[in-house]
Parts: sequence; structure tokens; C-alpha cells
Amino acid sequence: MTEYLSSLAKGLEPYVPGEQPGDGDYIKLNTNESPYPPSPKVQETIRKMADGSLRLYPDPSSGVLIKAASAYHGVPEEMIFAGNGSDEVLAFAFAAFYAGKKVVFPKVTYSFYPVYCGLFNAGYSQLPMVEKLGMDLDGMAGCGCGVVFPNPNAPTGELAGLEWVERIAASNPGNVVLVDEAYIDFGGESSARLTGKYENLLVVQTMSKSRALAGMRIGLAFGSEKLIDGLKRVRDSFNSYPLNRLSQYAGAAALEDDAYYKDMCGKIIRTREKSFGELERLGFEFIRSSSNFILASHPEVPAAKIYQVLKGNNILVRYFAKEPLQNHIRITVGTDGQMKILFDRLEKIIGGC
Ligand code: PMP
Repeated sequence: MTEYLSSLAKGLEPYVPGEQPGDGDYIKLNTNESPYPPSPKVQETIRKMADGSLRLYPDPSSGVLIKAASAYHGVPEEMIFAGNGSDEVLAFAFAAFYAGKKVVFPKVTYSFYPVYCGLFNAGYSQLPMVEKLGMDLDGMAGCGCGVVFPNPNAPTGELAGLEWVERIAASNPGNVVLVDEAYIDFGGESSARLTGKYENLLVVQTMSKSRALAGMRIGLAFGSEKLIDGLKRVRDSFNSYPLNRLSQYAGAAALEDDAYYKDMCGKIIRTREKSFGELERLGFEFIRSSSNFILASHPEVPAAKIYQVLKGNNILVRYFAKEPLQNHIRITVGTDGQMKILFDRLEKIIGGC
């Protein structure tokens, strides 16, 4: 720590993202990226847009992307916001709606939420998990403060039905209920359209996972005009051009190639379901995730060892050292071929070789 830091910076406990090794030929199952490339139409769009127009600033409001998102989700353009990855959209939301107030989220959830609270001075409490690693949805309903939860939850993959989203939004009037739908396309129904019914509901999505565009950093939010205006206030006090020109067009092209996206999600879901069987066969305990990752632990072999041995064999999974997940690994669902290599190696580790 240096003498140059402000007291704000000194007090931060930054988020630590999963490893992104620059070298080596890893099977990367640690940061929930898609194992498939983005749609060829998206790649073509990026190539086409990488021209002399890059000398100009991009559209500050990401109009082309918002238009495509509006057509795709059936939500009016005034109720959509775009940012540089959903992490940025989430950060803007914490600044706009929770700074100096109170918000609750599950104890086991996306570990960036408490970091945003630290950055924006939001009071928070973490609701204890119910029945092992389940979200306390009842506790979020009627809590009388802001609420944030991923749906499906991360890193457990637990999905809450739309009736829960409605109940939590309806029972917390005057407080923003933020549903982080980073993984919704792998097994759930989006609550984006419910934002027309609940003024206090904000739904955040990303193109990093189900659209295979983590490298482009595209996040969206759906909400009432009051909430979208709140996000714009923060954006325009921070960075007027959060989304670069290529990302705006790539995001719109991704939304337009629905057939490719559905096919890719279908493949990932089928591989996930097959992986449940493999994990069972090897004696793992795991949650039947509705997402593109599986949280698992083994009753006999410590997660730390599994993680280390896999890494030594060029397979990266995510290991959580912190309680209550200290004996868990999270495996991103890869291709069938990648998962076969993973399970062959796991079999050797569990068998003691
Ligand atoms: N929400 C959750 C629950 C996530 O796991 C992630 C990925 N780390 C994000 C949001 C952020 O995704 P991105 O910034 O790539 O859109």
C-alpha cells in the first residue's frame, strides 16, 4: 500500500477475476466463457466495421445495440441501457441506487457485489443460505431495502422462477430489485419484460456468456425509465462513451443471429446434462445447475488438490478458497471433447493416480 492512495482506495477490497493465462494451451473451464466462437455474422460485422470510422467517437447511447435489444426482447428503447460489460452496468446500478443506502444479497453469490458496496459506500447484508447453498428468496421478499441476486445464482446455478422475481419486486416498493441475468439463457426465462410491470425492477444481462462475446465487453440493463435515467446519470458522470463502436455493432449482430445463439446454448445445455451423469459416476456432490457451470465437491479428495492437479495437466477450473465454498470447484461447461478430457483426468485423480 502506498502513501499515494486516497482513503477510499485504501479501504477497497478488490474483486479477483479468474485466471486468464496468456500462454500455454489450456482447456479453459474457469471463467464461464462460451467454448464456441461467436456467430460468423458477428465476426463479419466486426471486420466490416473496423474501418476509417474508428477515428470518430462511438454513439454515446449505443443506439444500434439498444434498437436491436428492443426488437429482440420486446422492451421499449427508453427502457434499455448498454454498458461496457455487465460488470460496468452493475457498478453504475450500485452507484445510482444503493450508494449511501442498504442492499441485501445472498451470502454465496457473485463476489463483485460487496466490492461495489465498498466502492460506493453502500451498506449491505448477506442473507445466509438455506438448505445448504440455496438462496433465501423469502428473506429477500419484503426486506424493505434494495435487493440484488443473480438468476441463476452464481456460482451455484440455482434458478428462481419468475414468480419469485415478481414477489420480491412487488414486496419491496421504493427499493430497486436488481436481477443479474448473466446466465439466464442456459435454463431460465428472462424477467426483462416484467420491467414494464414493476417500476423498481432492474434486469441486467451480458453478452459474455451465451453470446460468446466476453472479449467485446457488452452489458445491458432493462428497467423503467426512472431506473434507466439513474444509470445514465452515473454513466454521464463517469464516461460518456462506455461502449466502443465495434462492440455496439457486434452486439446488434449477435442479437440478429438468433439461430446460431440458440444452437450454441442448446449444445452447452446438452453437454451440461451429460456432465451431471459423469460427476455422479465419479462420486462428486454437485448442484444440478441451470447455468453454464457446475459447482462440485468430492467427499474424499480435497478441491484444492483437484484444482492443482487439473492445472498441472493444463485444465483450468475455478477454485474458491473462502468459506463456505472452500471445498468446491466450479467447472465451466465446455465442448463435449473438452469435457471428455476433463472427466478422464478427474477419474485418474479420484482413483488416486
Ligand atoms: N454477473 C455475474 C453473476 C457474473 O458471473 C459475471 C461474470 N464474471 C458478470 C455479471 C459480469 O459479466 P461481464 O462483465 O462479462 O458482462
